[in-house]
Amino acid sequence: MKRIQRVVRNVQPHWVGDGFPVRSLFSYGEEAAEVSPFLLLDYGGPYEFSPTDHQRGVGEHPHRGFETVTIVYEGSLEHHDSTGSHGTIGPGDVQWMTAGSGVVHAEFHSREFARTGGPFEMVQLWVNLPARQKMSPPGYQAITSSQIPRVDLPQGAGTVRVIAGEWPGTTGPARTVTPLCVFDLRLTAGHEWTAPAPEGHTTIVLVQHGRVTVNGQSLASGELAILGRSGTDVLIHCESEAMVLMLTGQPIDEPVVGHGPFVMNTREEIRQAIHDYQTGRMGRLSP
Ligand code: MN
Repeated sequence: MKRIQRVVRNVQPHWVGDGFPVRSLFSYGEEAAEVSPFLLLDYGGPYEFSPTDHQRGVGEHPHRGFETVTIVYEGSLEHHDSTGSHGTIGPGDVQWMTAGSGVVHAEFHSREFARTGGPFEMVQLWVNLPARQKMSPPGYQAITSSQIPRVDLPQGAGTVRVIAGEWPGTTGPARTVTPLCVFDLRLTAGHEWTAPAPEGHTTIVLVQHGRVTVNGQSLASGELAILGRSGTDVLIHCESEAMVLMLTGQPIDEPVVGHGPFVMNTREEIRQAIHDYQTGRMGRLSP
């Protein structure tokens, strides 16, 4: 059984732009090795937005050296970027963006969601790239809800949406650079079962709604457990109906040097990233 290294609780929300009330449940600034290959997890919402004619969100900003994974549960987002790409991410959809050598983009509520308002819930996860892939060309995987397989757990314990990696017998649609899994679980009260987590892989469990005991540690809504690399099993006991995000990944044991939206291996690479952004070499958003 994997041991719990750390439990994250009582994180206060802050606003990213005027569109994203997020709790940063972990970030590479604190314990990069502990969460590797993941860098950051922002849990956005749940939040009720009033209708508006204004598109809330965050304007032009860059990324280099990693991937951003945006999972939308409620509400709808729109993005556009320096490669000319543009899209909408709705409930159940996932955007897997490889920033690689650099993307400049903007992330907003979709026009339609802004107009109607309503409940909003999302996660943005940052996944590190190994040094040899940090300057690879940027790219997107727009994964729609219908492309994500849903698997039933035994004995009616709930369902798993396999976004990335393999749940025994089912492979998720996201292409990943290093071995990792992203599972979106909907759980039924009263069940106990064992989730698969590979030996040597970091494992992280976020309880979004409900109360779940993870390897003996009880977690409430908005709480997260970081489990160690050794061992294989994660014992889940669902105390109430619950929604859970589970991540596993092979650590990338390389230096992590970050500055805001740039995550590289050395200070010199960070200086270069800032210079490249400021001189327009990561591109610009077309007006
Ligand atoms: Mn961004």
